[in-house]
Amino acid sequence: MTEPIDAIPTTYAGTRFRSRLEADWAITLDGLGIVWEYEPELIVLPSGTQYVPDFWLPEVGTWLEVKGPNTPRREKATELGKARACHCTGTCSCRWPGGELVLLGWPSHRSPNRPGYRARYGHAWWGAAYGPSAYLTECPSCARAHWVTLRRPWRCRGCRASLGATPRFYSPAEQLIRFGEGGSLASAHVDEDMRQLAEEERLAEAGDDDGW
Ligand SMILES: [Zn+2]
Ligand SMILES: [Zn+2]
Repeated sequence: MTEPIDAIPTTYAGTRFRSRLEADWAITLDGLGIVWEYEPELIVLPSGTQYVPDFWLPEVGTWLEVKGPNTPRREKATELGKARACHCTGTCSCRWPGGELVLLGWPSHRSPNRPGYRARYGHAWWGAAYGPSAYLTECPSCARAHWVTLRRPWRCRGCRASLGATPRFYSPAEQLIRFGEGGSLASAHVDEDMRQLAEEERLAEAGDDDGW
């Protein structure tokens, strides 16, 4: 049986990952300036199942389970997300606002027809293992990039400061977060500007056609 390309052990930043996909996620986290630990802990879930999540993001209280085509099962991540979510009644007093977050990290979106920059690896694609959708945002106080849900109050999971009245929440569907090549949130801004420019040009061209 041939080894699927996804399961090739890959060394990055002195860490040996089980797969290239996991290494690409580490590169992506590094680009975003997010501190990570790889497989730091064996967790016994409430069901008694043992589980070693792929990444713990210690500054923002988030787990990331990488899910390639050969690892479709997500039950453990979902159970962990449910167990570690906020169960406070009233004001949240969890160590992390809203409790610990558990994300699933999938292989990249590819978007060859997008205007402007074309990422080598496409764009980061993630989802919440349990509970409401997770969006990437940047804290205006500590500048940490991290994932949050839209549940209010909107607070930084790193420093607990307010995210402000109009935070920018990045959805994976926007395809602005470059995957596997160290793309930063700054490059997401650039990609967004380029996309808007392309859209304005398209509209301007469409406007020219109206006279005909
Ligand atoms: Zn809570
Ligand atoms: Zn912060």
